[in-house]
Order: sequence, then structure tokens, then C-alpha cells
Amino acid sequence: YMENSLKVPVVRDNKYYAYVNIMYGCNNFCTYCIVPYVRGREKSRRPEEIYAEVKNLLNSGYKVITLLGQNVNSYGSDGSTDGVNFATLLDTIANFEGDFEVRFLTSHPKDLSDELIDVMARNDKISKVLHLPVQAGSNSVLKAMNRKYTVEHYRDLIKKLKDRMPNIILSTDIIVGFPNESEEDFAETEKLLTDIRFNNAFIFIYSKRKGTVAEKLPNQIPLSVKHTRIYKLLGIQREINGQLFNAMVGTTVRVLVDGGENGS
Ligand code: SF4
Repeated sequence: YMENSLKVPVVRDNKYYAYVNIMYGCNNFCTYCIVPYVRGREKSRRPEEIYAEVKNLLNSGYKVITLLGQNVNSYGSDGSTDGVNFATLLDTIANFEGDFEVRFLTSHPKDLSDELIDVMARNDKISKVLHLPVQAGSNSVLKAMNRKYTVEHYRDLIKKLKDRMPNIILSTDIIVGFPNESEEDFAETEKLLTDIRFNNAFIFIYSKRKGTVAEKLPNQIPLSVKHTRIYKLLGIQREINGQLFNAMVGTTVRVLVDGGENGS
């Protein structure tokens, strides 16, 4: 069906998992990214529309609701939600009736507030799964990417999250071979990956996007160097994943079985 005033078609192809857009566009202009140019500036949906859609989905039997936006943490900062920010939106939804879980994607480290960490920690219905893209472990690369946070800030966020939610499942995105990335910069990313021990890391090779600032930067990194670096990080992450999976052997977890009918 067509979704409310912003007219974006919504596809739901699974009986248990549903995705709800809470905002569109992005204001961040990370220098490698094309999204702000193609999707435009941030626009948040009205909270009452979101609440109605989520309630409707819960009534239809959906069990895992994922709230979506390029940067959900800045929900409401365009002034269109009567003061409702992302933490209050999430808190309200987590207090709806029913047996369900709510998740959200994507979080930007510069906007992840203490208030949001608190809301996550004290609501059982908010999944303790967080994707927090770091992109690089070096402050000079983060600056060149226009990410607007430091590695120290990121590490501090992870510490706060783990202090409040010791079993939180953390994942991240990393880009290797950004223009000008030195061996020292790369070593810092390697160290970050080793130190934090993410449950999952999506690691990409930097590639130029037409029309972005980074496309024009000098000192583009040769493909062979990018390959060496990505394989190194993938190896580190594979080892961490193995250790984390092994540590789960013998534990009891709650699962949602969403397949298996008709012999599939
Ligand atoms: Fe926005 Fe994400 Fe692109 Fe940065 S990477 S400009 S936060 S969509």
C-alpha cells in the first residue's frame, strides 16, 4: 500500500518482521556518500502517524518492528514533530501493549544521546542490538570523511552502552582505503576493531561516488593496498566472530522462528 502523506510504497514480505520509515533524507554530507544529494534534507514523519502504523502492525501479528531512517537519532530535529525526539518516540513505542521487539537503523555516533541509551537500557521491548557505523579508527580519516565525531567519542559511547547493557550486540561499518589513509591511520582502525570486538562488522573498500567531495581528494589509495587492508580486517573480525560464537555454546537464548513451513 501507499504510506501516508510522504507517498513511499512499503513492501512487507515477512510475517514477523516489519520496517517503518520514521524519517527520510540526510543532512550529514559525509564526504564519500551520495545520499544527501539524491534523497534531500532530513524530514521526519509525524509521531502520531508512526504510532498508528506500528499499532496496526502489532495488531496484524508482527513481532519485530524496525524503525528506519538514515540517521534515526536526529529524528525531530527538523522541528516537525512538536518536540518529540527519537528517545521519546522509541520510549512510547516500547510501552505499547503486546509481545514484540523494536529495533532501529541507522544510528549516527554524533547524535546517539545519553537519553537514548537510557531508554534502550530500561525497556525490555527494545532489542539490545545496535548498529553503530564507525567507518574509521583514525581521527584524521574521520575528519576527512566529515563524520563530526572523534574515535575517543565513539569509544566512550561503546563504553556507556556496554556499562548499561552488558549483553548488547554491536555491529559496525568500516571503510578501508579512504583517500590519504596512511599505514598509521589504518593501524588505528585495526586497533579499534580488535579492542571493541564487535559482534559483526561490515567492512568495505572505499570506492568513488560521482558528485561527492571525496571523489576529488588527492592521494587516492591503490586497489592493491585497499585489498591488503580489507583482508587484514576481515581476518581479525573472523577470528573475533569465532570466539564470540564459541562463547555462546551452552547458553540459552530466546529465538523467533520465522521459516520452516511447507518443508522450507
Ligand atoms: Fe548521511 Fe549516512 Fe550518507 Fe553520512 S553516510 S551522508 S549519515 S546517509
